[in-house]
Amino acid sequence: MRVGLVGWRGMVGSVLMTRMVEESDFGHFEARFFSTSNAGAMLPTSLVGLPKVEPRLYDAHDLSALQECDVVLTCQGSDYTKEVYEPLRQAGWSGYWIDAAKTLRMRDDAVVVLDPVNQPVIDQALNKGIKNFIGGNCTVSCMLMAVGALYKAGLVEFMTATTYQAASGGGAQHMRELLSQMGTLNASVRQLLDDPASAILEIDRQVLATQQSLSAEQTQHFLVPLAGSLIPWIDADRGDGTSLEEWKGGAETNKILGRGPGFNQPAIPIDSICVRIGAMRCHSQSLMFKLNKNVPLKDIEQMIAEDNPWVRLIANTKEDSIQELTPVKVTGSLNIAVGRLRKLAMGEQYLGAFTIGDQLLWGAAEPLRRMLRILMR
Ligand code: NAP
Repeated sequence: MRVGLVGWRGMVGSVLMTRMVEESDFGHFEARFFSTSNAGAMLPTSLVGLPKVEPRLYDAHDLSALQECDVVLTCQGSDYTKEVYEPLRQAGWSGYWIDAAKTLRMRDDAVVVLDPVNQPVIDQALNKGIKNFIGGNCTVSCMLMAVGALYKAGLVEFMTATTYQAASGGGAQHMRELLSQMGTLNASVRQLLDDPASAILEIDRQVLATQQSLSAEQTQHFLVPLAGSLIPWIDADRGDGTSLEEWKGGAETNKILGRGPGFNQPAIPIDSICVRIGAMRCHSQSLMFKLNKNVPLKDIEQMIAEDNPWVRLIANTKEDSIQELTPVKVTGSLNIAVGRLRKLAMGEQYLGAFTIGDQLLWGAAEPLRRMLRILMR
C-alpha cells in the first residue's frame, strides 16, 4: 500500500508523525508526503530516515499524485478537504480517505472513527465497502474515551458538558498567538512585578489596558484576547444560539455510538457550552449526567476504570484532583483522566464528572493512525 500524508507539519500532523514513529508504523506501507506550501522541497531531516519514505514533497493539490496513493491521510483541515476530496473521487479514485477535519464526518458514506469505542461500527463499514474514515471532534473523542462505559451500558438518559478547550485546538498559529499575548502582557508589567511593593491593582489595571489595546495582528487568530481571558464560543455560529462545536457534541457522539438518524436507536440528548481557555494542550470537560437508574458510585467508578486501558480514574479528593487532573499532568500522554466523580444534589440519578484528554492524541492523531493500522491488517 502507498499512503499519502497531507498536513503532517500542523498541530495534529506533527503529533501524528511522532506517534507513528513511536509505534513503528512507517515500514508497513510506502509513504508519500504532500504539502500545500512547499511542494518540491526535500522532506525535513526528522522524516528522511524513515523506511519506505519518498524523499521529496508532492503538491497536495496534484490530483494525479494523490490518485497514486491507496490511502490518503489528511490533517490539513476542512478547507483542503472541501477543495480536494470531491475532485479526487470524481477523477475515479477509490482509495481510503482518512481525515481529521469535520467536512465529511456526518455523511452517510463516512464513519467517525474511535476504535476503542466503535470498532464494531468500523468493521461493519469496512465490510460494506465504506472508504471514508474520519476522526471525530476532539472533545467528543476525549469524552467518549473517558466515560464511554456509561453509554455502552445504556445508562445515560442525557448529558450536559461545559468544556475548557486548549488554544492548540485551533492549530499551530493559535498556540503561537496565545504565547505571544502572554509575553506581551508580562512585558507590560515586568517592572511592577519585579517590585514586591508595587500595588496589585496597578498591575491589574495595566494588564487590562494591554489586553484591551492588543492590535488586530496580535488577535488575528482568536479575534479577541485569550491570554488572561476566555472565549465562550468555539467554531461557527449556527444562528440558533448554538456554536458548531456544541452541535458536534450531540451529533457526533450519537453517530459514533450508532444512534440517531440512520440508525435504529434513538439519539441521546447531549448539549454543552464550549469555551476556549488559555491552556496550551488538552481539552477538559465538566460533565453532568442524568442516568436512567440509580447506580452505586463505586459500580460507576469500576465500569469507567475498566472500560479501556487508557482511562485513569482519579480519586475525588483535593490532593488527587490538583495533582492528577490538570492539562499540565495529562498533556503528551494517551491517558484519559476522569475525576470529580460524585452524585449531584439533584438526586441519586445525577452524576458529575470532570475529564481531561490530550486533544491532539486521542482527540485527533491517535484514532487516525489506528485506523491506518486497521486497514493494514
Ligand atoms: P494547523 O496546525 O493549522 O495545521 C494545518 C496546516 O497549516 C499544516 O499542515 C500546514 O500546511 C499549515 N501551516 C501554516 N503555517 C504553519 C505553521 N507555522 N506551523 C505548522 N503548520 C502550518 O491545524 P491543526 O490544528 O493541525 O488541524 C488540522 C485539522 O485537524 C483541522 O481540520 C482541525 O479541525 C482538525 N483537528 C484539530 C485538532 C486540534 O486539537 N488542533 C483536534 C482534532 C481535529 P502545509 O505544510 O501544507 O503548509
